[in-house]
Amino acid sequence: MQERLQKFLARTGIASRRGAEKLITDGKIRVNGVVVTELGTKVDPVKDKVSYNGKMLKVEAKKVYYMLNKPKGYISSVKDEKGRKTVVDILSDVEERIFPIGRLDYNTEGLLLLTNDGEFMNKLLHPKYEIGKTYVARIDGIINMEDLDKLANGVKLEDGKTAPADVYLDSINKTLKESRVEITIYEGKNRQVRRMFKALGYEVKALKRIAFAGLTLSKLKRGEYRKLTETELLRLR
Ligand code: URA
Repeated sequence: MQERLQKFLARTGIASRRGAEKLITDGKIRVNGVVVTELGTKVDPVKDKVSYNGKMLKVEAKKVYYMLNKPKGYISSVKDEKGRKTVVDILSDVEERIFPIGRLDYNTEGLLLLTNDGEFMNKLLHPKYEIGKTYVARIDGIINMEDLDKLANGVKLEDGKTAPADVYLDSINKTLKESRVEITIYEGKNRQVRRMFKALGYEVKALKRIAFAGLTLSKLKRGEYRKLTETELLRLR
């Protein structure tokens, strides 16, 4: 989105709007290497390179934090080289350049946080904080107690044994020969939940994340998103 050069300059904090106008008319500002003295000039704050005294100017982006109830069929990244829809497409009216905190598989739905705050993201993903992530898995077959115990105590995967998890049997559907299991993991191996069940011989037919770091989806419907509240942010920081 384009904006007037003096407004952009004021937002970077180098001068007031008035002061910025003087810098422009005095020929002190360059846009993409070219001196600009015209006050009406519009710039794209993301694409154009605006400099003063040879220094590139940048506006510190306001930090934003969103929770999305991700539907199936979306990639958890900003861009996809195969042209598939990404979770960021769902939040297309958000102006800041946000990215997802971690990943949910293309076919996994549920709670996903997005932000433009890299430090916040690193903290939530760092293994030492052992952030809890709760999933409901609908699996093929009637699961037994022994396998529930194995899931809780650790399952051997090709990249190592999984850490202890909290596991509850939600329900069993004898007619459909399916089980629903709630599992909370405290680490983030790639496709971990699906691989844990697979290692025990169960196929995950549907997977939904219902909680992340103590936050829950509550009333957020599939495909909906909202800003995190101040209270939620305080709890996470
Ligand atoms: N575990 C998985 O297998 N898939 C996800 O999307 C998240 C956790």
